[in-house]
Amino acid sequence: MQVNNRYGALFDKVRIGPVIAPNRFYQVPHCTGMGYARPQTLAAMRATKAEGGWGVVCTEYCSIHPSSDDAPYPYVSIWDDDDVRNLSAMSDAVHQHGALAGIELWHGGSYVANLVSREPTLGVRSMPSRTDPVQSHPMDRADIRALREWHRAAALRARSAGFDIIYVYPTHGYLISEFLSRASNMRIDEYGGNLENRARLLRELIADTRDAVGDSCAIAVRMSADGHGDMHLSADEAHDLIAMLDPLPDLWDIVISDYNEEMGSSRFMREASLENRVAYVKSLTGKPVVTVGRFTSPDTMLSQVKRGITDFIGAARPSIADPFLPAKIRDGQIEDIRECIGCNICYAHNTRAAPLRCTQNPTMGEEWRRGWHPERIARDSTGSVLIVGAGPAGLEAAHILGKRGFAVSIADAASEAGGRVTRESRLPGLAEWARVRDYRLGQISKLPQVSLYLGSRMSAADVCGFDADHIVIATGSAWRRDGAGRWHDTAVAEFNHDAVFTPDDILDGRVPSGRVVLFDDDHYYMAPVIAELLMHAGANVTYVTTEGKAGSWSYYTQEQQATQRQLIELGVDIQVSTAVMGFDGKSASLACVYTARQRIVAADALVLVTSREPHAVLYEGLLECGLDAGRIRRIGDCYQPSIIAAAIYAGHKAGRELGTGQQSQLPRDRPVIA
Ligand code: ADP
Ligand code: SF4
Repeated sequence: MQVNNRYGALFDKVRIGPVIAPNRFYQVPHCTGMGYARPQTLAAMRATKAEGGWGVVCTEYCSIHPSSDDAPYPYVSIWDDDDVRNLSAMSDAVHQHGALAGIELWHGGSYVANLVSREPTLGVRSMPSRTDPVQSHPMDRADIRALREWHRAAALRARSAGFDIIYVYPTHGYLISEFLSRASNMRIDEYGGNLENRARLLRELIADTRDAVGDSCAIAVRMSADGHGDMHLSADEAHDLIAMLDPLPDLWDIVISDYNEEMGSSRFMREASLENRVAYVKSLTGKPVVTVGRFTSPDTMLSQVKRGITDFIGAARPSIADPFLPAKIRDGQIEDIRECIGCNICYAHNTRAAPLRCTQNPTMGEEWRRGWHPERIARDSTGSVLIVGAGPAGLEAAHILGKRGFAVSIADAASEAGGRVTRESRLPGLAEWARVRDYRLGQISKLPQVSLYLGSRMSAADVCGFDADHIVIATGSAWRRDGAGRWHDTAVAEFNHDAVFTPDDILDGRVPSGRVVLFDDDHYYMAPVIAELLMHAGANVTYVTTEGKAGSWSYYTQEQQATQRQLIELGVDIQVSTAVMGFDGKSASLACVYTARQRIVAADALVLVTSREPHAVLYEGLLECGLDAGRIRRIGDCYQPSIIAAAIYAGHKAGRELGTGQQSQLPRDRPVIA
């Protein structure tokens, strides 16, 4: 395709062995939380990306055999002809938009536990699974022969399912990486010992795949540029391995050894931050290379290609946040790109075994069930609406209602739009979260029928006197000052003190000093980020959590390790499995969550990060004024305090539904007895 703008080079066709990618935008394999059980949801989601211009669209990890079952994590599978039929729905849909479809064949080895299939797990030697009290069966030659047969059969099924690119996947700790590992592979046969022997299985699987599919499909190998950690596969060995195997695959999909960094959130990793580690691969190979780096800036992408770092702009998260990112670059609509904010809420949902959702893109995962399209909003209305609150929920509702043709007035008491997103984006490491606000303000600025009134606190009387067909209340929530939350069911009288602070105080610039006890009963990012802010401000912080780890829910966003490491490095005193029970301005009493034994620590201030209370005053005032509840809709944190993604989703849903009067029953993607 001829693209007449400075990003034209991103739209070059690129040959991958026997197939040709229509451009350089490559959605690398990424988890979805949809798995084999939701094939229609999956197909519609991947198709949307192809429609949005991604030249290659891949599956997530795809199990080749029941001995590789990652339950409870949702994976796809290609075990039989039913799987072929389901996966064909994806490849067909991807092809309809002119993109190539890739499939990541996967065997989990010792890592998984086969909780559903109940097959024995297989390993290069007998090793414990990632989490369960299960060890693998050490593979003998017959097992290796069987594995090769399964992989070959899976490759043939992948071809008949219509895939253009078939992966061999020796990374991320799964079976083939066990063979590559010096530490794990203690075999004394031809599959153990020197690098050539440890790479034998990988070499054989690539050759088997080639032999099976011939020249009809390209073969990709997903390889870590810097090895798998020194004791397993050093960076030098990874280099040698790529050089040694280079004649075999048609494409190198290059990642790095530390998944926490590869999937690093914006708190800890910037765009293109893998470059130093992956750049050398292009100098080793004439085969096309795809790398990732949470690329959202077209200039960065162009620079990566022009400087020869990569041939393809690999993306998972940027393609989730904006399935139409390539099309927008192609059409010169750079300001319309919905940039990923690097919050990893998408990944968290997969890790929670739920279909992925996205903070920036509320249509993600709703392409099939609700028929939501990330870019198409029908212009179907002429009514009017008043929205109170320009946080993420209110801004998203205004954006969608404006696109539908409503005359929208959106008022906020604050002098800046964005609500909690604006405020929280000033906390350490969260600057990119402001993109949530900026995308919506950008869209709204193009809609003359949307008027934004800042510095406009609305009373119930103001709202009742406003002439609008619909009223949307999006007034947010406030952190509780009384300690009620998960640990304390009700308000704690012992917390009633002037030196008790909440995150809202700190966001308002009221920052405690001296010895500060910070009680994290929320378990996500807020308390650790406040600890960081307080330490930078010179306070002495004791971080107290009822959980066993700092920011424990951040495990799901792949941030927990980095969070705890950061607190340790900052010198924060971390007290786990502990609750704060009281505070008197000089000291706080802490209790062990198991024994209830109490101890006293010196404390000049207490920060409570426990739970939030919805701002309900305005809504209740409207009902008292006698306003018809049917005209009012509450959305976001003022209805249900939750993550930012939920506020955006609520705003989007209200935007789509307002005035339509219909709440149809949603189709469910599930196997049904024939
Ligand atoms: P959400 O995440 O649900 O969008 P936020 O807390 O981010 O909620 O945003 C709520 C916004 O509502 C804040 O910007 C706040 O200033 C605004 N707000 C709350 N009450 C009123 C009110 N009575 N009049 C105008 N704006 C209000
Ligand atoms: Fe990016 Fe967050 Fe969306 Fe994931 S959920 S794609 S990290 S904005």
